Amino acid sequence: MNKLKQLYEGKAKKVFKTDNPDIYLIQYKDDATAFNAQKRGTIVGKGVVNNKMSAYWFLFLEEKGIPTHFIELLNDREMLVKAVEIVKTEVIIRNIAAGSMSKRLGIPEGTPLSQPVLEFCYKSDELGDPVINRDHIRVMKLATDPEIELMAEYAHKINGYLQAELLKSNITLVDFKLEFGRFQGEIILADEISPDTCRFWDSTTNKKLDKDRFRRDLGGVEEAYQEVLKRITGGKE
Ligand code: UDP
Repeated sequence: MNKLKQLYEGKAKKVFKTDNPDIYLIQYKDDATAFNAQKRGTIVGKGVVNNKMSAYWFLFLEEKGIPTHFIELLNDREMLVKAVEIVKTEVIIRNIAAGSMSKRLGIPEGTPLSQPVLEFCYKSDELGDPVINRDHIRVMKLATDPEIELMAEYAHKINGYLQAELLKSNITLVDFKLEFGRFQGEIILADEISPDTCRFWDSTTNKKLDKDRFRRDLGGVEEAYQEVLKRITGGKE
């Protein structure tokens, strides 16, 4: 499989065409941004962690029956994926209040939620990914009703699978963001599952093992990324 023209460069990844039109190559970078790219920096080794961790979760979820874009890991920073068209609606699931939910609704960070809370956001850098609901998605034609319901169903299932698996590593899944894509008419999980897109807290100490260490200048960012990868994959990624 040859790496051809770069199609797109995002904040954390580059996407390349390959000689197969149905397959893209994704390259994970160490670049980090936060607060809608107002804060920029580098987290050394992040690309490797996010590539390996995403591959680990995609394989894990495929085994549970969740379709994903993942095809194969190529090396430390690159994977092959199905060439999806990304749905412009992000799906967030929250188990504990944190981040923008705490700020927006005045619920102190760390408050357990009595049920998982699902949020949809409009994927738009210019607008700062605003929260939207099913009616917005419908009138903006971002996704069809069956697609919305399927993304919500997959997101809740993924939450259950990830929570149970992370418990084995003494990690609490506070919240996470998913992106889905369309491939040959089907909705499949795309993007990444990593410390950039999830809040992982040590279950005993509540120590943050995710991008909040970068967002909030907590220090030990690189170490946290390495530690959470090792804990989750047991070093056999
Ligand atoms: N998130 C993400 N990309 C975004 C916004 C949020 O991956 O553009 C993830 C974030 O890491 C967290 C969850 O989604 O795990 C909820 O984030 P929140 O809405 O609290 O936003 P933040 O406080 O990170 O701005």
